[in-house]
Amino acid sequence: MTDFSGLELIEPLRRALSAEGYTAPTPIQAQSIPHLLGARDLLGVAQTGTGKTAAFVLPMLQNLTASSKGRAAPGRPRALILAPTRELAVQIGDSVQAYGKFLKINATTIFGGAPIGKQIRALNSGVDIVIATPGRLMDLLNQKKLRLDEVSIFVLDEGDRMLDMGFIPDVRRIANLIAARCQTVLFSATMPEAIAKLAQGLLNDPVRVDVAPQSTTAERIHQRVLFVDKPKKRALLSSLLKDESISRALVFSRTKHGADKIARHLEQDNVRTGVIHGNKAQNARQKALNSFKTGQVRILVATDIAARGIDVDGITHVINFDLPQDPETYVHRIGRTARAGEAGQAISFCDHEERDFLYDIEKVTRKTVPVDADHPFHAADIAAAGPSMGKSRSANPGNKSRRGGNGGGGRNFGGGKPQHPSKASKGYKPRGHKGKSQGNRGGSSRAA
Ligand code: AMP
Repeated sequence: MTDFSGLELIEPLRRALSAEGYTAPTPIQAQSIPHLLGARDLLGVAQTGTGKTAAFVLPMLQNLTASSKGRAAPGRPRALILAPTRELAVQIGDSVQAYGKFLKINATTIFGGAPIGKQIRALNSGVDIVIATPGRLMDLLNQKKLRLDEVSIFVLDEGDRMLDMGFIPDVRRIANLIAARCQTVLFSATMPEAIAKLAQGLLNDPVRVDVAPQSTTAERIHQRVLFVDKPKKRALLSSLLKDESISRALVFSRTKHGADKIARHLEQDNVRTGVIHGNKAQNARQKALNSFKTGQVRILVATDIAARGIDVDGITHVINFDLPQDPETYVHRIGRTARAGEAGQAISFCDHEERDFLYDIEKVTRKTVPVDADHPFHAADIAAAGPSMGKSRSANPGNKSRRGGNGGGGRNFGGGKPQHPSKASKGYKPRGHKGKSQGNRGGSSRAA
């Protein structure tokens, strides 16, 4: 498929897509939209950056337009999109506005940390689409400010992150309030057991669309690791940032406190820096994000949860100031660069305590991260150290060649499978699926 004409989207949507400058659907869009227009349930395995938002928002707008009987009843939305973070909810809200600007569908965004009164007034005025984070939505449901019995399309975005953030019980409670016959869509970047189980309970004979093979890192991201003693990490960061080709960098810190410290240090160095994490007020986070998007600040320091769903084009570098414990998080982080076909760099600092994290990352991604020893803080002892007890070096064949000292480590990504979006879109029946028909779900409440 080369353009949107094969997707049977209505004219106001096609017009909006052209206004956005989109000329062709992304693979997730080409594979999902026809099924979603046909009201199928869908399980999508795709990361942020693949165009997944349009994949579910476009058919939602079209189907709601087709079934519209005028304004939605007060406090009774017709579609619900759940997102794990405020940032992602805001971004989805922006996409709904952009794609729906020539339609008479209205939407509101609901998340914690913002005045609840305004959100209640918006709901009371009657909205078709609610985009919400689970916590605030539960508050409003408990206060009986909205009902979900009119919801005919339910989307759960970034299921794996919902899991990481402990939202699954809330998600199940919310799903139980939605009529079982409604169209349900679940997107997740990875498919841990708990999400597969959730999908099995929520989705009825879903189509599965998979464009993100689990745990393989994008070929066009140039990765390297710099071994450094922990106390020297900040000095190493300052020295790296003298390189002006690092024009827009996202720096990851494991902790909120650490993120603040890094940002303060860079500001002292006269590097304009924004910082976002869960302790920052919503408007401060949004302001930092906007300054980063517009290029007013070159560096954004973030924790994993706060960075989730950030959609900023042109990130030239992702810098892992701290290596994450979980290889999937590493894959997510570095996926923030090299978007839209561009190349990107992922630079990871690794101290003594993080050696094992690096081994785990290499094992899961099936790639050796090239070592860059060409910096003033190179710690040869860390480079030479083996994995701790219980870690098997042989699990990662590429490690035999780890030497360092090659000033960037060469762009050698051999050994790993390249990331090719899967062309297949196949009917998916999860294990143990009860095979409920559309008919027998009607009217009853959902067993999640
Ligand atoms: P998402 O994965 O939904 O966060 O989208 C990632 C980025 O791709 C966003 O900046 C979208 O505006 C952009 N995008 C989505 N679909 C298309 C498309 N068909 N053509 C060009 N850009 C797109």
